[in-house]
Amino acid sequence: MTDRNQRCTRCILPANYPAISFDETGVCSFCRKWEMKWRSLDFNRQETLLESILSRYRGRSEPYDCLIGLSGGKDSCYAAYVLMKRNLHPLACTFDNGFMTDRALHNISSTVKTLRMDHVFIHHHSRRLPDLYRHFMLTAGEFCSVCNVGIRAALYRMARSYGIDLIVSGHSIRTEANSPGEFFTCSSGYFHNVAGNAFSHKTRKGFVHINQIERVISHIQRSPHYLQLPSFMIWKEEEFIPLIERELNWQGLFGRQHTDCRMSDAKEYLKLKKFGVVELTAKLSSLVRDGQLSRDEALRLSREYSDGLMEHEAELRDQIRTEFDLTGEQLDRAIQTTHTRFISRTDTALSALKSLYERIRFGRC
Ligand SMILES: [Zn+2]
Repeated sequence: MTDRNQRCTRCILPANYPAISFDETGVCSFCRKWEMKWRSLDFNRQETLLESILSRYRGRSEPYDCLIGLSGGKDSCYAAYVLMKRNLHPLACTFDNGFMTDRALHNISSTVKTLRMDHVFIHHHSRRLPDLYRHFMLTAGEFCSVCNVGIRAALYRMARSYGIDLIVSGHSIRTEANSPGEFFTCSSGYFHNVAGNAFSHKTRKGFVHINQIERVISHIQRSPHYLQLPSFMIWKEEEFIPLIERELNWQGLFGRQHTDCRMSDAKEYLKLKKFGVVELTAKLSSLVRDGQLSRDEALRLSREYSDGLMEHEAELRDQIRTEFDLTGEQLDRAIQTTHTRFISRTDTALSALKSLYERIRFGRC
């Protein structure tokens, strides 16, 4: 039986994190999965593999070799820097989720200017995103999936329209929160289930580029190839943040996430109220596993952040109510609402298949 106050002895995930279990030594199932996949990663071998992939796309399409999503956060700016240093000619693309911070806009502008990259912004018409966010809050009690689906759709659509076969990302679950569907999901099936009949087929189809099966097929066929740089190289924030601060005039904070989104704290407040744990705890857990942070330091950062959210509860509630046009009662209902009933059967089946594939490929968990 799991003790409610139990916490993983290796990372900092608590017993109330969804879908977690602990072995006899107190190590959590997420640490075990991480170790299976990443512990024995040979970065020399990965470097050779990365160069062979990049060389396949260098000069392959005109005028751009690849596409990179640029949010203004540390990972995307560093990924852009890495590509330029490796003589790739990327097109940068930013999805405007309506919540971009001044800091994000500064980081994007500075990165694009310094690296002399072409850059496109994807803006949706003025009502589409607010209507989707509000509906998702009222129906599923969350809003982040709208942005995540929007980013993915924008990238795939942009790659297709420019004939680009390689999409590069600075995001990998090796160094980011590896959340189960019970904590967060953003598949297209889930999006369609929540959006339901509240939006026309045209609106839904216009927002999500392909369905889940098509996405899996494109992933298997690598058309386009989706490359997560942190899976191929050492990706230590304390090493690359000073570099991008110096080289790109990047501005942000170590150990924090999404300084590019002004609804980041609001999102985390909802997580804290719903699950008793923030996404930052999962992100810091990945950094502990990757040896970037001590367990004590991660615990301190996580507690300090959660305490700060509760200290500012009134402001955060006001911000959420204002942004999504909700009454206090509607916000309380959103906090009580679960998104899990909208997870499609296809999601569950695909997730089981992915776990099976990883067990076969990376060894027993
Ligand atoms: Zn753990």
